[in-house]
Amino acid sequence: MSTDDTSAASTPAPATPRNFIHDIIDEHNQSGRFEGRVHTRFPPEPNGYLHIGHAKSICLNFGLAKYYNGKCNLRFDDTNPAKEDQEYVDSIMDDVRWLGFEWDALYYASDFFEQIYQYAEQLIEKGLAYIESSPVEKIREMRGTLTQPGQHSPDRERPTAESLDLFRRMRAGEFPDGKYVLRAKIDMAHPNMNMRDPLLYRIRHAEHHRTGDTWCIYPLYDFTHGYCDSLERITHSICTLEFENHRPLYDWFIDVLDLYHPQQIEFARLNLTYTVMSKRKLLELVEAGIVRGWDDPRMPTIAGIHRRGYTPAGMRAFCEDIGVTRFNGLTNLAVLENAIRSDLNKVAPRYMAVLNPLKVVLTNYPEGQVDELDAVNNPEDASQGTRKVPFSKVLYIEQDDFMEDPPKKFFRLAPGREVRLRWGYFITCQEVVKDADGKIVELRCTYDPETRGGNAPDGRKVKSTIHWVSADHAKSAEVRLYDKLFTIENVADIPEDEDWKTYLNPESEVINTIAKLEPALGDHPAGFTCQFERLGYFCVDKDSTPAQLVFNRTVTLKDEWTKLQKKAD
Ligand code: ATP
Ligand code: MG
Repeated sequence: MSTDDTSAASTPAPATPRNFIHDIIDEHNQSGRFEGRVHTRFPPEPNGYLHIGHAKSICLNFGLAKYYNGKCNLRFDDTNPAKEDQEYVDSIMDDVRWLGFEWDALYYASDFFEQIYQYAEQLIEKGLAYIESSPVEKIREMRGTLTQPGQHSPDRERPTAESLDLFRRMRAGEFPDGKYVLRAKIDMAHPNMNMRDPLLYRIRHAEHHRTGDTWCIYPLYDFTHGYCDSLERITHSICTLEFENHRPLYDWFIDVLDLYHPQQIEFARLNLTYTVMSKRKLLELVEAGIVRGWDDPRMPTIAGIHRRGYTPAGMRAFCEDIGVTRFNGLTNLAVLENAIRSDLNKVAPRYMAVLNPLKVVLTNYPEGQVDELDAVNNPEDASQGTRKVPFSKVLYIEQDDFMEDPPKKFFRLAPGREVRLRWGYFITCQEVVKDADGKIVELRCTYDPETRGGNAPDGRKVKSTIHWVSADHAKSAEVRLYDKLFTIENVADIPEDEDWKTYLNPESEVINTIAKLEPALGDHPAGFTCQFERLGYFCVDKDSTPAQLVFNRTVTLKDEWTKLQKKAD
């Protein structure tokens, strides 16, 4: 990305899919409105961890800057000292970088507090703002409704000099919280409620995460946001649709002071099925201890999907797939999972793991002998090479891969039947061993030494290949199987009078403690992602230790759920 301040828009990179915002920018470039500059920003409030919706906004803002050889800033909109925290600032920076982006400049709205204070004084001096003494509830009452105009406050005609004096004394700390507010003087009958003398400043004797106790008055978000964009000389202020009817207010703040004017452009926020995208609700899950924290692999936070094993490239591909529009919709979670799956398919090495082990004894295999079989690490990527997998007399296979009395379409192991062991030999089930309760505890099989590597010299075929691990060499592990966070498709459908938490999926995390892994899976760092053949993509969790391996299921191999839906239709 260019760091040259005067860099004009240049040849677009063809790989990025275009959306309606490109058309708007192209028009500006043609008319020369911003002298060909493109400068966007991602403006989070540091009051929580970023979620997948934010990833869409990040990819859009940084992606546009890249496309036009422009710039993108990271700006923390830190106007609410009570809810903000350095922990959130740090996590947001980590998340943006994890997604693969680097900001050109870093700002905090609080960097501009002095300038914004000066703007407020200018508004008062122009007779466009006044000090209000009514309590906030009263102000709200007097705002009117969509069908009723608001009422003028008795303070609306307060002389300029008096408002200015009170505002300065507010700043000096003379008054308690709530005693006064500064309001813009616009139009109490305006059809857009945002224009009915909105609040600009309030008194908050609170410690700010950056400015400490320098300030005891804080500008409101609406009053701050547009000025920050202007001061950073942002060209295109991209935000979600719910801010469309704030645009006239941002325009007003900037125009009455004759300041540099960025173009605000709104797009539809991302909503996903079976998920919430609200920081407030996510915070509730964390605070109630329902999840393992902000980075719980079930959380739709960027920290959560990172821990779950989602890849930055998969996330970026997803954001490109869904596109950018002005229509609010609901994106199927399966679309996200498919993007992750198809990225992992390219990059993740394959290993064998058995989640629900069934013991297999090869009766004709020599006691104590170990055979080192060659396995291909990734059939999609030859550069990942091969590895050795130990094979011995006692193996584990998946319980599901055996049926004593198989139905017609079951081609895996059954009494008297021959199957192929992945990378290994053909085996035939000779005997089923049961415990006193009739539960199958062991299979006694024979192997054919001639079939090493997976083919019979006489050309005989088997109908299935199953995975396995050698019992003596296996590593035990805890495997956390993750699934949808909610049982309801559209969380917005939950009635207001019901507790949304009752719709959480009790099986969103199922812990398996009996899994057996091939030995090569024993020493990888947290975050290592791979495919367990035939089972899905998994990654090493940060809780994993050499003594207790812990893997997370990132995503299943196939989209079972959509398949089931289709069947049901
Ligand atoms: P939440 O509603 O979850 O609290 P927010 O909008 O208050 O989110 P901000 O920190 O203000 O969170 O968001 C930073 C940027 O990310 C904003 O420009 C916002 O429009 C955008 N954004 C937030 N949620 C989404 C979403 N679901 N889809 C796309 N962009 C989003
Ligand atoms: Mg917000």
